[in-house]
Amino acid sequence: MSTTEVQLCSRCKTEPSVTVSRKEPFCSQCFIRFITGKQRKAMAAEKFKIQFSKDPKKEHILFPCSFGASSLVLLDILLCLMNEQNSNPRGQVGFHLSVVYLDDSSFEKHDTVITDVINAVKEKYQTQNLPVTFEVVDMDGFFEDSENLRKISVNLDDYQTHIQPLSQSEHSFALSQLLQALPNRASRHDILQIVKAQLIQSHIIKSYNSSDSDSETPISTVLYAHNMTTMANEVLSLTVKGRGAEIHKLLTDSVLTLPISSTQTAQLGILHPLKDITSTEIQTYLTLLSLTELELKHKNQPTLMNKQKTINEIVNEYYKDVDVDHTGNIISTVVSTGGKLGDPLTLKKNDGSNESSTEQCIICHTSINGNPSPDKWLSAISYTSKLPPLTDLQKQSYSEWVESCKPSVNEENHEPPSQDQNQTQAQTGKLCYGCIVTVGGVKKADQDGFVWPVVTKERYDVDDVLKEFSLD
Ligand SMILES: [Zn+2]
Ligand SMILES: [Zn+2]
Repeated sequence: MSTTEVQLCSRCKTEPSVTVSRKEPFCSQCFIRFITGKQRKAMAAEKFKIQFSKDPKKEHILFPCSFGASSLVLLDILLCLMNEQNSNPRGQVGFHLSVVYLDDSSFEKHDTVITDVINAVKEKYQTQNLPVTFEVVDMDGFFEDSENLRKISVNLDDYQTHIQPLSQSEHSFALSQLLQALPNRASRHDILQIVKAQLIQSHIIKSYNSSDSDSETPISTVLYAHNMTTMANEVLSLTVKGRGAEIHKLLTDSVLTLPISSTQTAQLGILHPLKDITSTEIQTYLTLLSLTELELKHKNQPTLMNKQKTINEIVNEYYKDVDVDHTGNIISTVVSTGGKLGDPLTLKKNDGSNESSTEQCIICHTSINGNPSPDKWLSAISYTSKLPPLTDLQKQSYSEWVESCKPSVNEENHEPPSQDQNQTQAQTGKLCYGCIVTVGGVKKADQDGFVWPVVTKERYDVDDVLKEFSLD
């Protein structure tokens, strides 16, 4: 037997294999069919299929697309499916696709320009013939409605939240200002994920409230491009951030009930069509189809020390370390375990135990779980008075720490944020555990508190939402 013998694809048994995935050799065509098949299985519902009626009501799908590797694979699969449906002379494409890019260019550096990437995609897939729209949403729009902006701070003695109005001179605010006030990359990344989720939600609500177009139905399904590896990353990262209660909502395929006005709700399907595909398979797919050139490239990061990394970056390295045999067994176990988690509030009620709070966090809008609530729990387990460093090592570590986070360490840090009780009583609200940690780290020397649009009453009031996010 010759050692140079070409290994054949195990599926078609005729073509030479170009890649090995899950111990199986694949030729290019069979590998692409294998990946595409997984996505089509995830989107097998009748509502996405080709339509033959004369006046079909198209399903409206929203795809928040970062134009990163996973997003490009999902976009490729969707646009190819649309082109395939479109080529049927009697039929029509079964769904309308809205591709939305959340533009972070005001504070994040990219090597490529987003409009160039979108134009290249439009040309490659001949999208002028397809029911697909591309929209770029400026993330700074999150702070557009200055009426609702408040300063939020956490008193680190008792973990109580203080909400104050902004002063007259501060009535415009940009996302970059908030990011600068946050103490590290980890909390910046945490807050950016919340901003993105809320912008997407506003975008969906807007589709229910725009009366002008009869042809376009409101968004009924949202597709996320997480792959198995990124989902496993999120399961552990959310847990570490104290946001574990969100796992079921963010990472499982489900139907969400979304309040779209103060009196109405809508049912929204959430799908993760790439959830069975690893990031290595995503890269192979991109390479085989020469799609890497379409990727939106971030400027190269300088090498970071461990404490400068985000939680997601550290978790990523952890998975690389434990997946020594490249089988991906660990990540698939984490994803399937994460997929079994449910809504903690519902689970508690079924259990008949503790009654839960229905209060929502004023920042991330998650339901605040736990009895006692996070502020009381943190107070109970924390010793907030100061102890002087005792040993030489402690003294040295202390002075290094003081040096590293100047000017945040001073007496003022431990003062309640506002002496004006009338102001703080004007608005009350609670924070979840994850947000207490993030807001608690804001340096007071930079700004007095953490600025955020707080809508505590009827936050889904249509007029407010539309005013808040004019996306055009
Ligand atoms: Zn083959
Ligand atoms: Zn929160």
